[in-house]
Amino acid sequence: MDDGWQNYGRVLTVGQVAATPAAWFAAIMIASLFVGATMLCVPHAAVMVSILPGFLPALASLTVLADILTAYVLWGQARAGEEPALVVLAATYCGTAVLVAVNAWVFPATFPVSARHVGHLAAWAWVFSHAFFALGAASYGLYPSSRGAPRSFRLSALGIVSVAGSLVAAAIVLAQSRYLPPLIAHGLFFRLPRLLSGLMPLVMAFAVVALVARRRVRTVLDTWLLVAMVGMWCDAALMNRGGGRFTAGWYGGHVISLAASLTVLMACLFEANWLYRRLVLREARMTTTNASLRAANSELATIAERDELTHLLNRRAILARLAERFAAWQGEGSAFSVLMVDLDHFKEINDEAGHLGGDEVLAQVALRLRAAVRASDAVGRYGGEEFIVVLPGTVGEGARKVGLKLIEVVRATPFGYKGLAMRMTVSVGGACVDKGDEDLDALIARADRALYVAKRDGRDRQAWMDASYPDDVCACG
Ligand code: GH3
Ligand code: MG
Ligand code: MG
Repeated sequence: MDDGWQNYGRVLTVGQVAATPAAWFAAIMIASLFVGATMLCVPHAAVMVSILPGFLPALASLTVLADILTAYVLWGQARAGEEPALVVLAATYCGTAVLVAVNAWVFPATFPVSARHVGHLAAWAWVFSHAFFALGAASYGLYPSSRGAPRSFRLSALGIVSVAGSLVAAAIVLAQSRYLPPLIAHGLFFRLPRLLSGLMPLVMAFAVVALVARRRVRTVLDTWLLVAMVGMWCDAALMNRGGGRFTAGWYGGHVISLAASLTVLMACLFEANWLYRRLVLREARMTTTNASLRAANSELATIAERDELTHLLNRRAILARLAERFAAWQGEGSAFSVLMVDLDHFKEINDEAGHLGGDEVLAQVALRLRAAVRASDAVGRYGGEEFIVVLPGTVGEGARKVGLKLIEVVRATPFGYKGLAMRMTVSVGGACVDKGDEDLDALIARADRALYVAKRDGRDRQAWMDASYPDDVCACG
């Protein structure tokens, strides 16, 4: 997993993700494009171009849309990352959108507005939108990064105050514009150049310093905010050089302004897409990992319940199966039998063939026992050379037949080990589950007692301790 992904594992907002060299490169390219286009356009900025009726409404609505979307994305990220500085920036975009909308709305001849000061107001709205953006960016740059998680209502309050502030500013411009000094005379921006070359660049320079010095332009967001600022600067420079409406500079300025509005939004989209792709890849990887983990788990579960030597169920697993059967019998009354199988005089096999030989015989006996019963029956190694066989649904005569079969399959042929052929027999003690069995131990104890009887009566036989047989103990060969 690369560093970029780990970044996203920690934080999720473009305000906190470190800019990569690729992001830096792309940002420098776009900023250079803005500056280059502006320099190309400057010598022709004052050339009058014919009035394109739909140009301003189209461009302004796109800019407003881009700014509102950016504000929405940043607001969402602020809440997700609990980062109040992003709320300041979201409010900045929101306020800028309002001021751009005011500029387009009151621009002479764009919409049928009959106010006296419309041209005057449009120029001021334009100035305010640029100044507001720069001031907002500077506030964002200076805003202390959050330590710990601020309460979400504080974030909301900050957002509401910031947006309300920009709305109030726009309302004041609209209502009190007559008191603002005129910027335009006879359709020319005669005071605008002074404003542009003095106050606004100062505010923008301050914002750039705040971003560079305080935030160190480390993040994706800071990088693209600087590009947006460069775009706004180019817009102002072109407007200034154009010196009037519908000049080449005026048109060019608006286009660059829209491009600048789109940069942060594009950066957010790009990051979101990158994150999405990574999530999909991670999801796919996790699905594969989960599948192999599940396979490994079931393999482990199988290993955990098998006896290493005989590969039958081990003591814990066969007792668990017995407990399940016992519970099912208590619940549904489904009867079953338990058979204890013990190898006769097994010590002698160990003496004759050695311990390894004894092990081999044990494994072979286990194979024969397993093969002699149904797949639905459970066979386990209870201890040393003692096995338990559980027969669900088989009781009475049926169970006794199985007992005999077990005895016969062991007795039938000798067991071979390193040239030795060893005869072996087993004794079986059986018990069917019965109403008198208070618990599983009672049932096992009966089978154990029956095994003792089979051994006592000469081995190589079975005995049953079974309530269904009134004789109590029936030993049969
Ligand atoms: P019987 O049951 O007929 O009374 O005689 P036995 O010789 O089988 O009696 P006992 O239960 O006293 O002895 C069981 C022997 O089985 C003792 C022990 O050495 C041997 N044994 C137990 N587990 C293993 C094993 O895993 N491998 C080998 N080789 N021998 C084992
Ligand atoms: Mg034995
Ligand atoms: Mg034994």
